Amino acid sequence: MNSFLTHLECTACGQTYPADGLIKTCPACGKVLYARYDLAGAATSMTKQALADRPWNLWRYAEIMPVQDRANALTLGEGGTPLLPAPALGRSIGLANLLIKDEGQNPTGSFKARGLGVAVSRAKELGATTVAIPSAGNAAAAMAAYAARAGLAAIVAMPADTPTVMQAECRAYGATVLLVEGLINDAGKLIREGSERYGWFDVSTLKEPYRAEGKKTMGIELVEQLGWRVPDAIVYPTGGGTGIVGMWKAFAELEAMGLIGPERPKMIVVQAEHCAPIVRAFDAGERHAPLWEDAATIAPGMRVPIAIGDYLILDAVRESGGIAMTVSDADLLQGMREAASTEGLFVAPESGAAVVATRMLRERGFLAPDGEVVIFSTGSGLMHTDLVPLDGLPVLDPADPEALSRLAW
Ligand SMILES: *Cc1c(COP(=O)(O)O)cnc(C)c1O
Ligand SMILES: [Zn+2]
Repeated sequence: MNSFLTHLECTACGQTYPADGLIKTCPACGKVLYARYDLAGAATSMTKQALADRPWNLWRYAEIMPVQDRANALTLGEGGTPLLPAPALGRSIGLANLLIKDEGQNPTGSFKARGLGVAVSRAKELGATTVAIPSAGNAAAAMAAYAARAGLAAIVAMPADTPTVMQAECRAYGATVLLVEGLINDAGKLIREGSERYGWFDVSTLKEPYRAEGKKTMGIELVEQLGWRVPDAIVYPTGGGTGIVGMWKAFAELEAMGLIGPERPKMIVVQAEHCAPIVRAFDAGERHAPLWEDAATIAPGMRVPIAIGDYLILDAVRESGGIAMTVSDADLLQGMREAASTEGLFVAPESGAAVVATRMLRERGFLAPDGEVVIFSTGSGLMHTDLVPLDGLPVLDPADPEALSRLAW
């Protein structure tokens, strides 16, 4: 199973480029480049039958992945995450067919492992020696882990108030950690500067073509897990947008390969009330989403005030008949509690937002009661234990025979 990668294509001006060197955005117009494949060729070898015998990780889709030499494919066990029925949460929301794709089970605890596993593999294959990333937290941890695995130097820049567990994880992997006064876009400025001055390879969201290739495997896997069909709707907490954009690209490729038909799920973007550039642009009928000033939310993955792939996200949402909506921080905490207490899934705050958004869309009638809806649990709640109050826990004296009976049961 070889890669059928043929070239890169600009998503805005259509210019094409060879895929044989380190490249970032389109040299002609600065927009996002996509990896393109000989899909007819890929279809002859990536068949449903052939896949049945391959291991459950994202490299099973090697034909439509960019890494050329399989020996360069780094793995920490990314991908192959479960698609779990969520009947209790579904009953509570009023959805008979609710599913949760549990991306929290990825290495480093979020779906970021997919994109960065692939981007770091490909960057190494193309000769990079230092990889660098601005991040709200999870992407930095994922990049640092794969850089360690690859033997590459890693530089990460993140807001100074990023959850300490993510900072600590990056340090543990040996990355150089830079804390920045500001948000991910401010961190991005520093990384851009460092890349120009010191030759770091910048793997920022959609600013090189291969992270999206890792993200797209969420869409392929989902389709395969459903028996080669798409669900009615996908609810996705959105920051930089590679998740939505990557899955949308995957569906087009799978259709071109004859693996699915023209049906598409409604792509539903969920953002935080005080950081919602994509929702604002969606509501205004715009294709570009300017910087959101004073962005604030407790969900780091959604604390992204500007996205280079704004037009790709908005196109996918509109073409799919989806919607973009916001959730407050108080509501997303409630969503986290619900997923954990009804289904045993301790999800990240971003995914708590997706849970609440699903409920709101059901109440509004946007989602039908019998629709098959997939919520992406993009990350684990284990990085966010500070969001669960522990006050009032009883501390018991084991020598006290009345210790238990004094509590209300
Ligand atoms: C990065 C991140 C997101 C946002 O994903 P994008 O694909 O960048 O829009 C959502 N949830 C979590 C947990 C994340 O780490
Ligand atoms: Zn271009």
